[in-house]
Amino acid sequence: MGCLQLNERANKVDSLSPTEVVGFGNSEGIKLQSQSSWGIGKNTHTPDQVCQILTHEFTHYVEFSLAKNEIPLWFNEGVAVYTAMQNKEYLVRDAHKSGKLILLEKLDKKWYDNPDLAYAEAGSFVKFLVSNYKGSLSEVFQGLKSGKF
Ligand SMILES: [Zn+2]
Repeated sequence: MGCLQLNERANKVDSLSPTEVVGFGNSEGIKLQSQSSWGIGKNTHTPDQVCQILTHEFTHYVEFSLAKNEIPLWFNEGVAVYTAMQNKEYLVRDAHKSGKLILLEKLDKKWYDNPDLAYAEAGSFVKFLVSNYKGSLSEVFQGLKSGKF
């Protein structure tokens, strides 16, 4: 497989993914579904978001290349949301006001209860790490690579 696969005819990244998943990135590369199917049905992504989606999926490719191990979902997605500037911080503020924040330690298990909020919380936490602890992402990836985490 090449580094980037575009599925020009299908409205799915692959046969296992739901239609709302427009892209997928892992250590093998990036897969994207046809841009012509974005914004249809449950897929709320629009074709003009292609740069953000590519950045998000490329970040996953780099993360898996750096970590060489399993990456916690919240950290994996949080870094990708942060680098692609996709964070919806208003969702975190609203959840905080209404007492519906998902605890970080429960985020991976509760991810699919409210994925929009989960992505937003993960992205906000990574932004907090980057803003307050210089070199923190590098340390986490080194820890994941060595099996320390
Ligand atoms: Zn992702």
